[in-house]
Amino acid sequence: MATRVVSYYENYTPAADVLVMGMCFVFLILIWRAYINRTKSFFFLRAMIYLLFAAAASDILYHVSMNRIGEIPNIIIYIFRFIFHMCLFTNLWLYVLYLRASVHVERKSDRRFIRAGVIGYFVILFLEIFTLITRTGFYIREDNSVHTGFPVFLIGYVHFLSLLIVMIFKYRNRVYKQVLRGVIETIGVSVLIIIVQQIHGQSSFTVATFMFPIYALLYLIHSNPYDIETGSVSESAFEDLVYISSARKRDLYFMSLYMHDFEGKGRKYPKEIQNQVRRFMVKFFRSPMLFQISGGHMILVVDKAKDPDYEESGRSMLAEFNKVYPILKVDYKIVFFDSYEKLSEENDYVGFVRFMHSRIEENSFVKVTNREVDDYMNYKYIVNELSDIAEKEDLRDPRVKLYCQPVYNIKSGRFDTAEALMRIDLPYIGIVFPDVFIPIAEKNGYIYPLTKIILAKTCDKVKELTENGYDFKRISVNFSVYDLREESFTEMVQKIIGDSGIDYGKIAIELTESQNESDFEVMKEKIEELKGSGIKFYLDDFGTGYSNFERIMELPFDIVKFDRSLVIASGNNEKFRTIVSNLARMFNEVQYAVLYEGIEDDSDEMRCIDMSAKYLQGYKYSKPIPAEKLTEFFEKAEKS
Ligand code: C2E
Ligand code: CA
Ligand code: CA
Repeated sequence: MATRVVSYYENYTPAADVLVMGMCFVFLILIWRAYINRTKSFFFLRAMIYLLFAAAASDILYHVSMNRIGEIPNIIIYIFRFIFHMCLFTNLWLYVLYLRASVHVERKSDRRFIRAGVIGYFVILFLEIFTLITRTGFYIREDNSVHTGFPVFLIGYVHFLSLLIVMIFKYRNRVYKQVLRGVIETIGVSVLIIIVQQIHGQSSFTVATFMFPIYALLYLIHSNPYDIETGSVSESAFEDLVYISSARKRDLYFMSLYMHDFEGKGRKYPKEIQNQVRRFMVKFFRSPMLFQISGGHMILVVDKAKDPDYEESGRSMLAEFNKVYPILKVDYKIVFFDSYEKLSEENDYVGFVRFMHSRIEENSFVKVTNREVDDYMNYKYIVNELSDIAEKEDLRDPRVKLYCQPVYNIKSGRFDTAEALMRIDLPYIGIVFPDVFIPIAEKNGYIYPLTKIILAKTCDKVKELTENGYDFKRISVNFSVYDLREESFTEMVQKIIGDSGIDYGKIAIELTESQNESDFEVMKEKIEELKGSGIKFYLDDFGTGYSNFERIMELPFDIVKFDRSLVIASGNNEKFRTIVSNLARMFNEVQYAVLYEGIEDDSDEMRCIDMSAKYLQGYKYSKPIPAEKLTEFFEKAEKS
C-alpha cells in the first residue's frame, strides 16, 4: 500500500462548497420570485450562478479524488482540477463580460477585453499541459506524493482578476458610483478572504469568495423590493413580468389607475386608497399582481389563463370603484387593456399608458382598442424620426418639407408674400401635419432643429425664386417660443439667412403672443436684436388666447395676423364684427398692417376687405402647397 503524502488538500472541508451550491439554488429561487430587473447583461449573471455551482461541485470532486490518490487513475484528478480552475476563471471572465454589457461598450471599440480573455484561456491550457509534461507544475509523483511547482492557477487567477479590475477602472465613469463602490468593496472582501485563507494554508473558501460579487450585483442592480404595504412592485418589475409573460406566450390583462394628485417625488397614495386597492385586487382576482409605476400610477395585472373571467371581474371592480370614488374626491384616469404583441415586443406598456393618459379626460375610464395601439406606434415612430432629424442636424434633411401658402395683397392685387408651413414626410406613414408633430417636437425638445431646417429651406427657396426673376416681398416662417429661449437663437437666424446670401428683408418671423412675463421679455429682446438687420416680424394668431395690447404695442411688429376665429365670429355676429373691425382699424392707425387668416369664400373676403384688411390668406386663394408651386402665384418682375 502506497503511503499518502498529505499536503494542503487536507486543509479542505467541503462544507463551504456545499453551502455555495445551496446558495446557488437560493439565488435561482430569488430570481424566480423577486421580479428581477432583467437588463441586457442579466444573462451573464445567471450564467455566473450556474458556473459557480459547477465550480463548487468540481472543487468537491477534485478534493474527493485527491483523497483517493493511488486508488483511482491520476488523470481523473487532473481533469477535475482543471475543470475546477476553469470554472473559476470563466466566472471572473463572465463578470468582465457582464460589466462590458452593462456599460454598453461598443462592439468594435473594445474587443481587447474579449481577446485578452481568449488568449488567457489558451495560455492556461498550454501551461497546464506543458508543466505537466515537463514535470514543472502540479503533478502526482510515482509514490503518490504531490508536486506543486509552477503556480498555473495563480497566474490564471491573477490574469482574469486583473482583466476585471482594468475593466472596472476603465469604465468607472459609466457606472453609477454607488453601484461601483458596492462592487469594488465586495471584491475587496473576497480578496481579503483569499489572503487570510492562504496565510492559514486553507483552501475551503475559494469558491465562496466568488459568490460575494454575484450576490452584490443581484442586490445592487437587479433586485426589485416589494412594497409591503400594498404588495406592489416597481416599474422595472412590471417590465420583467411583461418580458417573461411574452416569452412564455401568456396573455395578460392590465388595469391602470392614475391619480395626478399623488404624483411627485416620494409621494404615494394615501393609506385609505392603498387599502382599497389591496382589497379590490384580492376580492376580484385570483392572480393579481400590482405594480407601482410612479407615485400616483398603479397597474394591476392578471394572467388571463388563471383569471378567465377577468373582464367581468374588471367590470365589477370598476362598479365598486365608482361607489367608493365619491368619498375619495380625487381626479383619476382608468385604462383597461389586453396584451398586444407590438407592445410586448418593445416592452412598452408603461409608455403606452402614459400616452393614453395624455389623451383622455380626467375622471374617465377607457377600454383600449387596436386603433389606440396603432396610434401609439405611429406616435413613437414619429418621435423616433424627429429625434433622428434633430440629431442629424442636416439643414437639407429631405424628410422636412417646405409647404407654402400664398398671401394676397389687396393694394397691389397680387400674391407677393407667402407663409412657410412645415410638413414631415416619413417613409411608412407619408405626410405628417404640424398639428401632430409640432406638439411632439416641442415636448421632446426637437423644435429648434426643425426651425433651423425650415428656415434654411425657406432661404433656399427665396434665393431660387429671386434668381429666376420672381417679384415678391418675402416669405414668413413660423417660430416657436422654445426657439426664442435658445441661447444661440439670434446668431442662428443671422447665420442661416446670411449664409444663403439673400436679403434679410425677404424673411419674416411669425411669433405668437406668449402668456408669461419672462417669455415676453425674451421675445422683446430677440426682436430688438434682429430687427436692425431688416428681418420683418408678424404677430401670429391674434385673437386666440388672450391679448395684451400694452405689450403688443411694445413690440415692433410689421403685420398682425388676425386668426380665422375672428373672421368666423365677425361673420356670425354684428357685435363681433364691430369689435374686429375697430381692432383692425386701430392697428392700422399705428402702422401695423392687418392680415386676415382663413379666408374661405367670397363673403369672408368682402367682409375682411371692409374691415381694414391689407393682406388676405386662406383656402379661397390656395391651400398650403409644395414650395415648388409658388411660381403659380408669384409673378415675374416686368423687364424694363
Ligand atoms: P398657423 O401659423 O396659424 O398656420 C395657418 C394654418 O391654417 C395652416 O395649418 C393652414 O393650412 C391653415 N389654413 C390656411 N388657410 C385656411 C383656411 O382658409 N381655412 C382653414 N380652416 N385653415 C386654413 P397647418 O399648415 O396645418 O399649420 C398648423 C399650425 O402649425 C400653424 O398654424 C403653425 O402654428 C404650426 N406650424 C406650421 N408650420 C410650422 C413651422 O415651420 N414651425 C412652427 N414652429 N410651427 C409651424
Ligand atoms: Ca403662422
Ligand atoms: Ca395663424
